[in-house]
Amino acid sequence: MADSSPVKFGKRVYKDPAVLELISRNGGLDPIDIMRRKGRETIAENREFFGDPPPFDPATTASCLGIRMVAEPPVHSDDAELHTLDDGSVVIRANDDRPVGRRNFSICHEIAHTFLPDYHQEVQHRGASRKSHFHEEDEVEYLCDIGAAELLMPVPWFQDDLASTEASRLGIDLLSSRYQSSRHATIFRFVQLNSLPCAAIFLSLKLKPTERHRFQNGQGSLFGESTAELEERAKKLRVDYVCPSPSFPNSWFIPAHKSIDQDSRTHEAVMVGEDYSGTDRLNLTKTVSGEFRVEVLNLAREDGGGPRAAVLLFVGEVP
Ligand SMILES: [Zn+2]
Repeated sequence: MADSSPVKFGKRVYKDPAVLELISRNGGLDPIDIMRRKGRETIAENREFFGDPPPFDPATTASCLGIRMVAEPPVHSDDAELHTLDDGSVVIRANDDRPVGRRNFSICHEIAHTFLPDYHQEVQHRGASRKSHFHEEDEVEYLCDIGAAELLMPVPWFQDDLASTEASRLGIDLLSSRYQSSRHATIFRFVQLNSLPCAAIFLSLKLKPTERHRFQNGQGSLFGESTAELEERAKKLRVDYVCPSPSFPNSWFIPAHKSIDQDSRTHEAVMVGEDYSGTDRLNLTKTVSGEFRVEVLNLAREDGGGPRAAVLLFVGEVP
């Protein structure tokens, strides 16, 4: 058993027993690197079963690892779940009603759960409450997203395609279609493997935590408006999280919940649900302030949810 003390790599602290065990079994390495390596090895070792060029069918990836896809829909998740049956066999149930890119990524996410120790002890699923990929708040789920990206958009193929693809929303949509991956996951992968200094800033219309707390404590209205109406009006387009490319400056830290300038082109594009390519004046922090080249990509809304988008922000001139 691994020591149960939290372990820190970069800015991330890991406490989950399964993650600590993963680190312990893999020579004390950063769990992100471990998950990426396991994803790469899975594809490399089973290369003969995949067609070339991509997409790489996640059902094939699953079957290479002895995991069966079954027809029953998931019961604990809107997307997919991994079950260990009484006879020890492992199956994935995936929601066929999801868009193909999201469904593919969800299946890869479930496969990545098997890279972690003790995955068979309970049903593994992306909870209905976990709306989007790559949120860092749950360390196991985040690591499975990291593994999933390696399985669905593997190197060297994705890296080669990236090198010959325009750094724009059109380029991202081409990659998304080529790899049959969701726009959201493709944006993450685009930034993760990019040599340009850039970051994907994921945005949604929401309250900041202090406001949410106030509304939960029943902030009333003096003028006959319901709390729900007030809450809706108080929401702003805010940062959910940021994925920087390896060469994005460390000092350009953009905090979660920061609001987006209401007079910016990014704000306008997201609020009307249109994509945008061009320049924009953004004031995100003292350092990240000024005119930037941006690509604004709207993302699918969740049921009943407001606008969601990613803005790709480039540092300096972009070819
Ligand atoms: Zn999961």
